Amino acid sequence: MSEELLIRKQSLFLVAPAYNEEESVPRFVDEVDRALKASKLDARYRAELVLVDDGSTDATYARLSALVEARPRGAARSMAVLKLSRNFGHQSALHAGLEYAFQKSARGDFFVVLDSDLQHPPRLIAEIVRHLEAGIHHAQMVRKDDPREGWFKRTSSGLFYRVFSFLGSVKLPRGGSDFRGFSHPFLEAYFKLPERERFNRGLFTWLGFSTLQIPYEPGAREAGVSKYSTVKMLKLGLTGITYFSSKPLLWTLAAITMLSVLFCGSYIAFEAVRYFHGHHYVLGWPTIVFFVCFWGGSLSFGQLLLGIYVSRIFEEVKGRPAYVIEETRNSVD
Ligand code: UDP
Ligand code: MG
Repeated sequence: MSEELLIRKQSLFLVAPAYNEEESVPRFVDEVDRALKASKLDARYRAELVLVDDGSTDATYARLSALVEARPRGAARSMAVLKLSRNFGHQSALHAGLEYAFQKSARGDFFVVLDSDLQHPPRLIAEIVRHLEAGIHHAQMVRKDDPREGWFKRTSSGLFYRVFSFLGSVKLPRGGSDFRGFSHPFLEAYFKLPERERFNRGLFTWLGFSTLQIPYEPGAREAGVSKYSTVKMLKLGLTGITYFSSKPLLWTLAAITMLSVLFCGSYIAFEAVRYFHGHHYVLGWPTIVFFVCFWGGSLSFGQLLLGIYVSRIFEEVKGRPAYVIEETRNSVD
């Protein structure tokens, strides 16, 4: 066997979650195939499309299974479908797909994640891969403002990114989506993070590495409706903020403590001034108010201390490493 044949071809894994996307998935697979062919990526890489059915209740899985069956074995563009046992949510589906791909991969392979509703145009895969080939570890596609999106979604998402960046330990760009490309070392570091509830957008940014933000025009949703209801969006936002910052807890408790001290102090001063001006008050009234204020303040202070310890425990439980090494060089290499 020639030496060339023994060298493993580099793999390109394309990971896409799908939840009730029966109408979109056949077109999506077709578009990805066409994009790989047009950019000749399928000649340079062993491409594998990994679709994750996130507990769909429509024919998504049946359609995907049929597509897998129809694929010739050993084709340059292979396909795998994972069926989750129920709907675990977009973030978990993404994680499942990436983990599957990572376990099959080797050093030097590339990964791209994109939505299966064609809002992340597959033709941009080539651009992402170009940057990964140039040595970027994390290519992040940043959505340009889309007038087709409703006012509420645009405003709430803009507000979320601002609040998150203000409170959190990492800054997320506005319009940052889950359309990204990763190098193998980047994902290796990502899978070393042990936390289970994963706000991927935050974690990807937290990891650091050489990152490039690439603006893109989002496509229109080809079929079906958005699976992100307002409640799901709020839950995701809350997960993101609470997993990346203890500030809401600590700031609220600190504000309550300060307010009770302020109120208590002002009330004592107020009653003292009144007393020295010869004003009468109902006997026992200032004592009651003072004790209410005093206990209120003491309890808030106790809670603040408790909050500080709880936030420390939370940081420890997440088990994020103290640092991540991107690359090591030494004179022996
Ligand atoms: N999705 C998923 N599980 C869910 C919700 C969504 O796998 O519980 C998938 C969905 O099929 C799509 C992607 O995640 O491929 C993004 O969802 P969607 O398009 O509904 O969100 P939007 O683009 O409206 O923010
Ligand atoms: Mg979408």
